[in-house]
Amino acid sequence: MTNADSSQLELHHDVPCPGCGCLCDDLTIGLADGQVQSVEPACAMAAAYYRQKSVPLTDCQADGGAASIEAAYQRAAEIVQAAKAPLFFGLGETSSEAVRRTIDLADRTGGIVDATHPTFYDPTGRTLQTTGLVTCSLGEIRQRADLVIFWGCDPQTTHLRHWERYSALAKGRFVPGGRSDRTLVGIGSPNKTTEACDAFIPLDTSQQVAALHHLISLAQEKPLHGAAIGEELTQQLAQLYEQVRRSKYFVFVLGEGFLRREAVRIPLELLAQLVRPMHEQTRGAISILRPGPNWVGAGGVVASRTGYPGGATLTQAVPQFDPDNLSATKLLSQNRVDAAVLWEGPWLANLPEAARQSLAKIPTVVFAHRHVHADITPTVMIPIQRPGYTDSGTMSRMDDMPLPVRALTGAEVPSAEEAVQAILERASA
Ligand code: SF4
Repeated sequence: MTNADSSQLELHHDVPCPGCGCLCDDLTIGLADGQVQSVEPACAMAAAYYRQKSVPLTDCQADGGAASIEAAYQRAAEIVQAAKAPLFFGLGETSSEAVRRTIDLADRTGGIVDATHPTFYDPTGRTLQTTGLVTCSLGEIRQRADLVIFWGCDPQTTHLRHWERYSALAKGRFVPGGRSDRTLVGIGSPNKTTEACDAFIPLDTSQQVAALHHLISLAQEKPLHGAAIGEELTQQLAQLYEQVRRSKYFVFVLGEGFLRREAVRIPLELLAQLVRPMHEQTRGAISILRPGPNWVGAGGVVASRTGYPGGATLTQAVPQFDPDNLSATKLLSQNRVDAAVLWEGPWLANLPEAARQSLAKIPTVVFAHRHVHADITPTVMIPIQRPGYTDSGTMSRMDDMPLPVRALTGAEVPSAEEAVQAILERASA
């Protein structure tokens, strides 16, 4: 990753990286004239994050033409003031401080806040309310886990250093041999991660719920109905259950292939029902491989300000909670909001078509530190600083661990928090 002689670079050590949900805090970044020249240890996603082209102040826009930043703030304030139900989303792309200001703005203008990831389905908040959930930090996986089960996920593609830093190769206090002290099992569809595991259980999504019920029956010593899943899978699950029972510390690492929006909370609630009683025999937890950089932190800020996990509507005097009907994608798809304020992110390219079409019809205010890779044309485009590179603040890792990210160099554009504050002041005038 090194482009220049490192002796000529301005080196920043122990840098937290917002490139994905791992928020690795051990990077060394080399700068020359404020531009990133080297990223160590090598991680292609981190290099891509730091090196993507920033949005200059000259790209500030309002109503289809170039605008000064002051004019853009003013137009954004007019949009949120005029709207009956402005939607604020994409909050996981910015710092917790900027999210806090955004809730002030939504409160002032009677908006709807959705801090959940628009395309990654994560029912943790609701599952905590129903069955409860045994979770763990990434540090516990690193230090303790001697059995790691990757179910419906592929960290070797989506979270490049998870494998080396936490779940497979890392040497921990109770797994001093690292990889040699860990047993790794993959479940689901084959991918790069499952190929590198010690064992793989192919599992079609249509069999997932039956397989979870089967594991729960094994744990509770209830009658088994192996016919529903076939003999081979019955044997594989019996072996997995024995591995879990005999482990010192097991972890289920889950991704989109496990969580599946169409299955709602059922798979996660069933797994939670398996993991909790296993603590009578061993120890273990569930870890969700969440995207980054700050979706967990954004949800936490919304919860602390409104009392509700993930999102709330502030259109009336008190916050109201209806996660099944107030997700950003649903509101947009049903044309139930008349303006949107959002932070751009890679998920924009995967928004459902109906939501994308709705965004094209209503006034939009977009905060961006890189160019939006989606076919939406914002009414107001406000360039902002990039978290962890030109902007500082707090972001939470996928395991809810808050970390300070810091600015490594200056920028001509405002921070996200400053930009929202400026709009809030104009909307309050
Ligand atoms: S794994 Fe993620 S957080 Fe860690 S260095 Fe790579 S992109 Fe950054």
